[in-house]
Amino acid sequence: MSHFSDRIIQWYEIHKRDLPWRHTDDPYYIWVSEIMLQQTQAITVIPYYKRFIETLPTIFDLAEVEEDRLMKLWEGLGYYSRVRNMQKTAIEIVSKYQGIFPNTYENLIQLKGIGAYTAGAILSIAFKQKFSAIDGNVMRVLSRYFGVETDITLDSTKQKLESFNQTLLEDKRPDMYTQAIIELGATLCTKHKPQCEVCPVKLDCVAKAKGLQSSIPLKAKAKAKKELHFQTFILQDEDNRFVVWKVTDNLLKGLYLLPQVESDSLNYALDVLDSMGYTIVFTEPISQFKHVFTHLVWTMDVYYGKIKNEKKHETVTSFEDVPMATAHKHIIKEKTYAKY
Ligand code: SF4
Repeated sequence: MSHFSDRIIQWYEIHKRDLPWRHTDDPYYIWVSEIMLQQTQAITVIPYYKRFIETLPTIFDLAEVEEDRLMKLWEGLGYYSRVRNMQKTAIEIVSKYQGIFPNTYENLIQLKGIGAYTAGAILSIAFKQKFSAIDGNVMRVLSRYFGVETDITLDSTKQKLESFNQTLLEDKRPDMYTQAIIELGATLCTKHKPQCEVCPVKLDCVAKAKGLQSSIPLKAKAKAKKELHFQTFILQDEDNRFVVWKVTDNLLKGLYLLPQVESDSLNYALDVLDSMGYTIVFTEPISQFKHVFTHLVWTMDVYYGKIKNEKKHETVTSFEDVPMATAHKHIIKEKTYAKY
């Protein structure tokens, strides 16, 4: 086992990508990077990470920043509950720990948005403690290397890989080991077409020896995504201001949407908007858009519309003024409304 750890650490020291969060061991910065990297590739995260820590360089800044500004910093990264949880956690660290990041697993795991992986990553990378951090990349590398052919979504498989990882980390520098195995999974032992010929552990890898790289890790088939159909509107009032809706619940909380009604009927949607006090004087179809979330697909029939200024509604001069949900940013980006 120690060959595995030595080889991947040596490989990492030579081949690691130069990523901005690798120049620090400040737990706040490590935490920000880990949360951003949870659902997003490193190359996409870089500009977001830089902007975030330049704007909010300390945990005190994150605890105090106003919601719209925070959401704007996260705009485009998706999974917005992540950043809302980060602010709750920052507030708790400031009030309970005087702004000093906790350095024990028991305290970290109590914080909102910090699960076993993130706690392990912070402890091993920032505090150099011997705590395993196991994510999808790590599970893929270990299941291939050890030839684990059971379903990776089963708890028993996860526990087995977790115990391998903890053992491999034990007598090494935990910060180096954790970053090395994550990097190996992200760059060489990738989901499709792993680059086994240049892999530092190719000589002992069971999946490579048996030609099982494409069937390990084994994963049960995901359930079909739920589909929702919306009638979605770019509505302008008589002062050419755009109507926006701020989301106050669900996974998009804190973001802004174009007005929309869940239905495949335009007439039904117009009735709903009318009952909400929007006096629509004109609509014209633009196009149909789709947005795919993790467990959900939105199909949106998009219309441009004009409303009267009879009632007061929340409006903006430009969509740039507020953090718009990604599903609607794609619609706005095409500036299909510009001709009106
Ligand atoms: S040899 Fe191939 S399958 Fe095995 S760990 Fe390396 S990249 Fe992954």
